[in-house]
Amino acid sequence: MIPYGKQFIDDTDIEEVIKVLKSDFITQGPKIKQFEENLAEYCGTKFALIFNSGTSALHAAYFAAGLSKGDEFITSPNTFVATANAGLYLGAKPVFVDIEHDTGNIDVNLIEEKITEKTKLIVPVHYAGHPCDMKKIKTIADKYGLKIVEDACHALGARYKVQGSMFKVGSCKFSNMTVFSFHPVKHITTGEGGAVLTNNEEYYEKLKMFRNHGITKDPEKFISLPTPQWYYEMHFLGHNYRMTDIQAALGISQLKKLDYFIEQRRKIADKYNEKFENNPYFETPEEKDYAFYSYHLYPIKLKSPFHKKKKELFKKLRKNGIGVQVHYIPVYWQLFYQNLGFKKGICPNAEKFYEKVISLPIFPSLTDNELSYVIEKILEVFQKL
Ligand SMILES: *Cc1c(COP(=O)(O)O)cnc(C)c1O
Repeated sequence: MIPYGKQFIDDTDIEEVIKVLKSDFITQGPKIKQFEENLAEYCGTKFALIFNSGTSALHAAYFAAGLSKGDEFITSPNTFVATANAGLYLGAKPVFVDIEHDTGNIDVNLIEEKITEKTKLIVPVHYAGHPCDMKKIKTIADKYGLKIVEDACHALGARYKVQGSMFKVGSCKFSNMTVFSFHPVKHITTGEGGAVLTNNEEYYEKLKMFRNHGITKDPEKFISLPTPQWYYEMHFLGHNYRMTDIQAALGISQLKKLDYFIEQRRKIADKYNEKFENNPYFETPEEKDYAFYSYHLYPIKLKSPFHKKKKELFKKLRKNGIGVQVHYIPVYWQLFYQNLGFKKGICPNAEKFYEKVISLPIFPSLTDNELSYVIEKILEVFQKL
């Protein structure tokens, strides 16, 4: 089966991991710091903090943004459950805003009507690696005094244009913090892993402590004095959200290949776009003028009436060795969210999107032969429908 996404790991990656295994520190050593510095430099941000998953990074970012019990945060239903779950961990309530039918991103024009006195935070998700219009989101956040955390788990390497200048997702020029994931299907991998980027030192300090049980080892921050040399101080209830140095070594090595990975993904997307142009069965994803799409996914949308045959199509494609997937079941359709009282129908565009969408294979190690096979088979399966 050709999966919809998969890691690319070469001998240099493996050698870097082995070096750490033979060294003195397999966790809390020098590799985490180096990975953080390299990632911050790549994105053009002051600080990067590495976590053991994208989910824990989201949890930490929401905490650092001050999200707490009884608060509301605005996000998209067209995402992985983690985006919303991370707020539930803090006792906050997700408020889902419907999406644009083309990009699958949060519809910026619908945000304001969902803002209440309880709203603290906006969490845009750069669906499939196509950036949201961050300038517009920032204008709304500023008007109401809200914070922004970008869920950029799909969008490492993506960029967007504002008034003629390009900004990297992760630069945090139009947000307070940005979160990435290093799960194997994402742009670079550490097995499991994630990161929060920010330009704000206060957030940086909070994130760092949240990752390590709420503990500080910095004598300048101690509240009780005087203190013995072995002292450390816990200020709030944090977690063990640390990544190992074994993984960070892999991350450092992977990051060096990121631009190549993106280039490969964009080449595959170009090929799909070319071969599927004007086909009668489905729409292909589109890059907006302001966007540089990093194609974490290649989501096609079935045209009417083919969307009615999605289940059958999905089965046939899988049977032919094409590991298609669906991104996403609207988060509030999940049983757990239904039990919390979220009603179906609240985001009609997200529900329509879900009816139509299928993700095709896209990853840097997809060979030309595999790509040609996928394209031929897909057209064949549709023709025989
Ligand atoms: C992958 C992903 C996450 C969670 O990341 P993990 O590293 O798997 O915990 C969160 N949000 C989105 C949009 C994702 O795609």
